[in-house]
Amino acid sequence: MRTDRLALAGLLFAPAQLEGAERSAAAMAPHVRTDDATVKWLVTSGAEYSPTFKRLVSDLDGTDVVAYVTVDATLPRSLGGKIAFVTSAAGLRYLLITVFPDDDPKRAIALLGHELAHAREVAADSAIVDVRSMMDAYLTGLIRMRSGKPIADTWNARAVQAQIAEELRSRHSMMKLDFDNVRRAIPQPGPEKGADRPPR
Ligand SMILES: [Zn+2]
Repeated sequence: MRTDRLALAGLLFAPAQLEGAERSAAAMAPHVRTDDATVKWLVTSGAEYSPTFKRLVSDLDGTDVVAYVTVDATLPRSLGGKIAFVTSAAGLRYLLITVFPDDDPKRAIALLGHELAHAREVAADSAIVDVRSMMDAYLTGLIRMRSGKPIADTWNARAVQAQIAEELRSRHSMMKLDFDNVRRAIPQPGPEKGADRPPR
């Protein structure tokens, strides 16, 4: 199974500050958010066919953590996905999850679930309030080095990923057809699809 790594880099992206009525609206809205149509499909299908994925999403809704999910075709295939702290605003902690645009729905949902498992870990640790404290929290876990930068991962997130993949196994053919249709209907941003992918 391809695994992701937890990236400990800072980010330039930050949502606007929220106040007053906007604040409660922000807390009430779903805590897993995306503007990407393929990710929306992954979240919807993941929640529909994987009880573990569904629980992740509903658990996050009850926390002060909001996870934005974006797709990045330039992410190394071996990395798969990453998560980073963005900011705290109006009582909410914002994380940014970035995933590779995998054309295999089972793998893509399981990987997204892996990242959401990290989001739930952050939600359970109130000491994580910025990039530095998130790094500190994860550096006590499994540490590896990639290109000279520290990266970390947890057995919990890997177990969640494996569990989701197992739950989706019997649905794979049906999901693949559906996902291919969704992807075909959406103009793919960035470079030509698959243009810079290494051979598999
Ligand atoms: Zn991870």
